[in-house]
Amino acid sequence: MKFVVAIDGGAGSGKSTTAKAVAERLNFFYLDTGAMYRTVTLKYLQCGGNIKKIDMLLIEKIIKKTTIDLCREDHKTHVYLDEKDVTLEIRKPAVNNLVSPISALAKVRIWMVDKQREVAKGRDVVCEGRDIGTVVFPQAQVKIFMQADLKERARRRIKELAEKNINVTFDEVLDNLKFRDDFDSRRAHSPLKKAQDAIVVDTTHLTIDQEIDIVEKLVRERLENRTRVS
Ligand code: C5P
Repeated sequence: MKFVVAIDGGAGSGKSTTAKAVAERLNFFYLDTGAMYRTVTLKYLQCGGNIKKIDMLLIEKIIKKTTIDLCREDHKTHVYLDEKDVTLEIRKPAVNNLVSPISALAKVRIWMVDKQREVAKGRDVVCEGRDIGTVVFPQAQVKIFMQADLKERARRRIKELAEKNINVTFDEVLDNLKFRDDFDSRRAHSPLKKAQDAIVVDTTHLTIDQEIDIVEKLVRERLENRTRVS
């Protein structure tokens, strides 16, 4: 296994911003597993899937014939669903509202985890999600668990979405973050939880640069130790 940095945590805890920047600084591949679950959800919505009760037959069809690709272009990750760029679409409220129930399905998770391991093969990666340190890469050399106060996370998320011209109210964002964290933590299959050996980074009172510096320092220390040992 190459060098894996696993970053887990609740919705809006600062994982993506930190993971992206650390990957860029270290020249590692950035793997956004949330984007993959969002893309499956978008496909389900595009196929007219029932929102109240998940249609398992449709999910099985989707698993058989859907391609999801993450490509780094101009320092940005672009997400392709069946070769169409859906980078912006997967951030919309309809996807936010359904992504947790779809992600809780064992069939979807098995498919996604296989794909995540395949994408990471032979690469140094910074991988972010909910189950990276516990399930996807339990042998990761660095494991971080990020957390932050709920209201602060909602404020940050609104700002991020506004920059993408997606306008939502504070309460909508807050409710969705809370709903997803509860759902993701309670599901039976690979729930959101801190790996025993993960380092907790609370970003509530940190600036973006501070949180990136903390994680970068942790990774560099481990990289140096590895070089010294080998
Ligand atoms: O990271 P992001 O907030 O974009 O993730 C969207 C959703 O995808 C999460 O709320 C969760 O339901 C699901 N997810 C997951 N496992 C991961 C990454 C994301 O279940 N490793």
